[in-house]
Amino acid sequence: AKKQRGSSYSLFHSGMGANLARRLMIEKSLAGNLKELGLYFAIQPQLNCITGELSGIEVLARWQHPELGPISPLEFIAVAEETGTISNLTSYLLKEVFSFIKMNKKKCSKFPKTAINVTPSLLTSTAFFEDLFHLMEKFQISPDWIEIEITESVELTCSEATLKNLVACRSKGISIALDDFGTGFSMLAYLMDFPIDKIKLDKSFITKIGFDRKSEAVLKSLIQFVKSIDCELVAEGVELENEAAFLETSGCVIHQGYLYEKPMSPEDFDRKYLELSYH
Ligand code: C2E
Ligand code: CA
Ligand code: CA
Ligand code: CA
Repeated sequence: AKKQRGSSYSLFHSGMGANLARRLMIEKSLAGNLKELGLYFAIQPQLNCITGELSGIEVLARWQHPELGPISPLEFIAVAEETGTISNLTSYLLKEVFSFIKMNKKKCSKFPKTAINVTPSLLTSTAFFEDLFHLMEKFQISPDWIEIEITESVELTCSEATLKNLVACRSKGISIALDDFGTGFSMLAYLMDFPIDKIKLDKSFITKIGFDRKSEAVLKSLIQFVKSIDCELVAEGVELENEAAFLETSGCVIHQGYLYEKPMSPEDFDRKYLELSYH
């Protein structure tokens, strides 16, 4: 019995070592040159399910690390938040995305509104928003070309600073989308307290379509509710035909999900969605 304990201890211990080494490597890399270290972005379209028209795009961070391989944004965004490098990371992505928008707006006036994820910890930071506004000027990005996505899955702390920053965005003409709608702490409070233009119905609702009558009823009334307060609406994580059909019948026609497109490289997006409308 003693021997067993000993060996399970060493297994546990070496496991901890590997996790710790990975974590330290991610932390160190986040403080380094993000471009050289393989950080980039993918694009996922939001499409009108009736007309097939492109309604908007969301940019999603990707990381192909030279030593660790692909790392999920769920992992590296969390580390960046904990270690305070999230503003650097987001600022780097903004520059990459803005230069892509700038280049493409010249070729294609129909380039769609681009949504960028901003984590809760940054929403309280006036410095981050100053940086955002500065970069918009530098890259000549018009406010109505972009949208910031804020999540309601995490409680927004220090809401006074958040409110001030969001109002500043709104007054410039940047639109604000509430992500992961329906999963969060107090969606009604968010809607009443913050200036929200668009709501993104969380995937967890969409997944229940076809399986759970009660969730379908809740979803139908949520869609009606969002429309009644004049918010735009996008359904996230649409994977199946029957989900798309249910959403369409219920009045939610802008869809984002694998049924239409997986997140793709900017080059593929350009080829598939923009080339046809070059002037
Ligand atoms: P999110 O903002 O809710 O983004 C949607 C996630 O759902 C993305 O995962 C996307 O690839 C995935 N998705 C899209 N359609 C489908 C579908 O039909 N089925 C399924 N199963 N999944 C679908 P991803 O790219 O792994 O990102 C995960 C999360 O990481 C994001 O969730 C967001 O919270 C965070 N994230 C990603 N990029 C950024 C970023 O640049 N900044 C910040 N702050 N967070 C980011
Ligand atoms: Ca999002
Ligand atoms: Ca989401
Ligand atoms: Ca999410």
